[in-house]
Amino acid sequence: MIDLKSMSLPEITALMRGMGQPAFRGKQVFTWLHRGVRSFEEMTNIPKDLRENLKEACLLTPPAVARKQESRLDGTIKYLWELADGNCIESVLMRYHHGNTVCISSQVGCRMGCAFCASTVAGKVRDLTPAEMLDQVLFTQLDSGLPISNIVLMGIGEPLDNLDAVLKFLELVNSPDGMNIGMRHISLSTCGLVPGIRRLAELELQLTLSVSLHAPDSATRSRIMPVNRAYDVEELFTACHDYFQKTGRRISFEYAVIDGVNDSDQQADLIASKLRGMPGHVNLIPLNDVVESPFKPSSRIAAFQKRLESHGITATVRRSLGGDIDASCGQLRRRAMEEAQKGEDSR
Ligand code: SAH
Repeated sequence: MIDLKSMSLPEITALMRGMGQPAFRGKQVFTWLHRGVRSFEEMTNIPKDLRENLKEACLLTPPAVARKQESRLDGTIKYLWELADGNCIESVLMRYHHGNTVCISSQVGCRMGCAFCASTVAGKVRDLTPAEMLDQVLFTQLDSGLPISNIVLMGIGEPLDNLDAVLKFLELVNSPDGMNIGMRHISLSTCGLVPGIRRLAELELQLTLSVSLHAPDSATRSRIMPVNRAYDVEELFTACHDYFQKTGRRISFEYAVIDGVNDSDQQADLIASKLRGMPGHVNLIPLNDVVESPFKPSSRIAAFQKRLESHGITATVRRSLGGDIDASCGQLRRRAMEEAQKGEDSR
């Protein structure tokens, strides 16, 4: 079967021509897909026999809402989507002053193994296709009725571990004939896969790169993030400096502050010295308690922030949204998996 929705406009146009159709059919089909039709029958300006042919040859399998939770505190909406093969992924819609932002997943599960993260506990099942990433944005907008203006690739999965599909997704969601979301409204977060960062730098996209730093020294970082044993934090900082040189884009560093692990003044000083020469921004995240993890939230976030600021580093403490709905990454999927497991056990 052809994964039509993962194809760009030129690719669909070429496919139409190959099927003996005029070129403008490509744009018609592309437009329908990006409006979120659930069947080829809905493509009313496409000849009926072509619709039949497409139905036989192509996949069109939008995700189903498996669960939906809405925060009473701040309107954050969390979706658990069931994909065509039965796997589940999460997206979170956050309502910021600067616009509605959807946080999407890039893989089913994750193989990066960060010690504090719920998404990686059961490993990676598979990569998502470009269409499955696009559908999270599209169907979050359609289901909620709220226009989406920003996207963050910060849900389940490591985007740079699925980079080809992510790049294709960016092209699709950026398309003027599709959702037309500008690169400057998109952020991509990585745990630090250096070759991916270097490949991204070459493309000079206008998106915002977020790097999950979580520790500036190799010993601590290797302890909480296995990726550090493959790409050491020194190598990571070099790649970040090179990324800034090449793209001129400021990098955002994510830092989940963990009690007694990465919250010392010495570590703040080290971050500052490593970022010298680059306008980085540090996002301090109050650690979300994950049942499977031994780590606890730091009690000295404010002091840590002050210490960074004393070196001229901009550091903000991230406002936590959706505290009443398991909104942080991987938690809802974990819970659904556990409940499914319990259901099986009690049978
Ligand atoms: N794989 C990518 C994107 C997904 S994770 C990455 O690592 O960046 C999105 C962010 O949430 C990352 O910064 C991740 O380190 C962070 N995160 C994961 N578990 C967390 C937890 N329990 N508390 C706070 N932040 C967490």
